[in-house]
Amino acid sequence: MSADPRPASPPASPGEPLLRVEGLTKHFPVLRGFLRRHVGTVRAVDDVSFTLGRKKTLAVVGESGCGKTTAGRALLRLVEPDKGQVWFRGKDLPTLGAVELQQMRRHMQIIFQDPFSSLNPRHTIGQIVGRPLVLHGVAASMSEAEDRVRDLLARVGLQPKYISRYPHEFSGGQRQRIGIARAIALHPEFVVCDEAVSALDVSVRAQVLNLLMDLQEEFGLSYVFVTHDLSVVRHIADDVVVMYLGQIVERAPRDSLFARPSHPYTQALLSAAPEPDPAKRRKRIVLSGDVPSPMNPPSGCRFHTRCPLAFARCSVDTPAQHGVADGHTVACHLYEGRTEPIDLASAARAAG
Ligand code: SF4
Repeated sequence: MSADPRPASPPASPGEPLLRVEGLTKHFPVLRGFLRRHVGTVRAVDDVSFTLGRKKTLAVVGESGCGKTTAGRALLRLVEPDKGQVWFRGKDLPTLGAVELQQMRRHMQIIFQDPFSSLNPRHTIGQIVGRPLVLHGVAASMSEAEDRVRDLLARVGLQPKYISRYPHEFSGGQRQRIGIARAIALHPEFVVCDEAVSALDVSVRAQVLNLLMDLQEEFGLSYVFVTHDLSVVRHIADDVVVMYLGQIVERAPRDSLFARPSHPYTQALLSAAPEPDPAKRRKRIVLSGDVPSPMNPPSGCRFHTRCPLAFARCSVDTPAQHGVADGHTVACHLYEGRTEPIDLASAARAAG
């Protein structure tokens, strides 16, 4: 491929994460009626903190509506966060002005879930992939960008001769490869993959995941991988955060999370995930009730309305994150002074 168009990163101290997120918060007002009266607030993301290591993949996992997609987009300021800090390349992204943010965009990109709606149907693949190169001054014109676009198409497994074709001429998997080519065109440092393989068939999903992992290796990329699919997490993640109703309930290195899921919600989530190895299959934990509305989340621990282990304090006090293993924390009162995972299935049986 052509030379790296990415300007050198500012020097980083050894061990410093690529991205540090502190207290990220995004609420959406709910407006109703002709006069657009304010009738409530959706607390989509509430006080979320994590770090992303260099050349690492952090999976943000949870059920639909847990705030993971909003969190991913707020990192890039595709939605404006209300509060919090996002430290990247020595800058706090939410405080950047329009010009500085535009300059920073070349270092951070996104791959969307639906490869069809994220590609302009009236533009050729050459225009779609080449546009960021022209916008950021890497190429003076679209025709100058063409050679690089051909390289990028080849790199993501597409024929360079497709450069003049339109999105509708491609399959779902090919369209996602086009989205990936566009995302890596400027050699970003980190990419938010927003349910990037969820819309794909299982066989194509594995190919695209492998492509993303190869690109990570080749370009030193870091990913924030937003997904509801635990098999994807197992395949691609180094670290995992589990979200429930806009908050992080558990944070862990991948192997630690799968070996000793600790939060009752994480245990229930993992128990519902398909497990090919019969020896590792977990007893299914079925939670009662639906996920409450993020417009009016429960007080205290937001999971208390569905938690089989909830006790009086849970509806009053918001639990802090308690460390249970190296890099592994859990937001649950039961882990005050305790590190061993609670066996939710048997504890619930004993209680009930
Ligand atoms: Fe369950 Fe209470 Fe722990 Fe929340 S704090 S997960 S309600 S036991």
